[in-house]
Amino acid sequence: MQHQLACRARDRCEPPALPQPVGARARPIDGGDAAPTPAARPHICRSSQKAIATFAIFQAMPLTSAAAFHMSSVMAVLPIITLPDPVLRKISDPVERVDDAVVKLMDDMLETMYAAPGVGLAAIQVGVPKRIVVLDTADDGEPPRPIAMANPEIVALGSKTRLHEEGCLSIPDVRVDIERPDTVTVRYLDRMGKEQEIEADGLLATAIQHELDHLDGQLIIDFLTRLKRDIIIRKFKKQSREARG
Ligand code: ZN
Repeated sequence: MQHQLACRARDRCEPPALPQPVGARARPIDGGDAAPTPAARPHICRSSQKAIATFAIFQAMPLTSAAAFHMSSVMAVLPIITLPDPVLRKISDPVERVDDAVVKLMDDMLETMYAAPGVGLAAIQVGVPKRIVVLDTADDGEPPRPIAMANPEIVALGSKTRLHEEGCLSIPDVRVDIERPDTVTVRYLDRMGKEQEIEADGLLATAIQHELDHLDGQLIIDFLTRLKRDIIIRKFKKQSREARG
């Protein structure tokens, strides 16, 4: 069983270490990375550590925006929608402005992503059809690099490609080999409502493209043949029926 849900052994978890101060390093995704196995990852409560670290990073930001004064003191882990929920196929609407509600949603999405654990999450995956994604592709042992994006738009894509076995928090236990452009330039509004543009490569480039697909109702299974896709959808429909009894 992969460590996909919130830590089930909190009483055995090491106490989270206070994070070192981190600069303004930007960083990104959802299941873009193959989910780590318990054997490959020491069992410490990463979600708690990351949430605390993220909170510290946001608190260290200059309070130049009204949104910054409203850093949510209590972040919440939200339920993640999974197949075959048709909400996942909705096209998300642009955010009008980054207000307190959007900031709170970004914070809750980061908490939810770290708890899963995943490296990216789109708002539609928690049932909110807004063009918001959060990402953090830092490796274990590295300081967290949370990125929150509102209204992200791809400005440019690299000419070379990168192959990655992608997973998705909304399609548990499914992996799909996907070839995508190896670099991506994306423009977005950050958590302060300020326009940013970053060029990403590696896992971050993959993760950004994966999350932006969610905003248009696209899923990793859309990269499969129709036959394979239908088999997976049928499996999730059956699981859903059995869960409902
Ligand atoms: Zn996904």
